[in-house]
Amino acid sequence: MKKPEINKLDDIARARAYERTGGTCEVLHCDKNAEHHRVNWHHYITRKNRALRWVQENIFIVCAGHHTLGNDSFHLNPIWGRDMAKLLRGTAWESKIRKLSNHINKHDYDTNLELMTMSLDRLLKFYESPLDSVAKVG
Ligand SMILES: [Zn+2]
Repeated sequence: MKKPEINKLDDIARARAYERTGGTCEVLHCDKNAEHHRVNWHHYITRKNRALRWVQENIFIVCAGHHTLGNDSFHLNPIWGRDMAKLLRGTAWESKIRKLSNHINKHDYDTNLELMTMSLDRLLKFYESPLDSVAKVG
C-alpha cells in the first residue's frame, strides 16, 4: 500500500475510535473527561505493526496525560499501561492481541477496510486460515 492509502485508513480508524468512545479518555476514572481535554489515539501494539494498526481492539482513546505525559501513561509507564489495558479489556483480549501481533499484513486497502472492524477471534481465524495465505497474501 502507498502512503495516501495508509493515511486514509488511519483517518478512518481514528474516526471510528473517537466515535466508539465518544471522544473521551478510556482510562477508568480519568478526571480529564469532565474538562473536555483533547484526546489522542494510542495503539496498544505499536502502529508499526500493520496487522493491528487499524484494528479497533488495538486502539485506545486517551487524554494526553494518560497517553504520553503523565507518570501513569501508556508511553512513560508501560507496566501501568499494560495493567490498565488488561483491566479495561481483559486477559483473553491481551493474549489474542499478542497472537495477532505475530502476523504480517500485506493486504490491500479494501481488505484492510474490512479487517479493521473484525473481532479479534475473526481476525485470528482470518490470519490462521491456509486459504488466506494462498489467496490473499501478495
Ligand atoms: Zn485520561
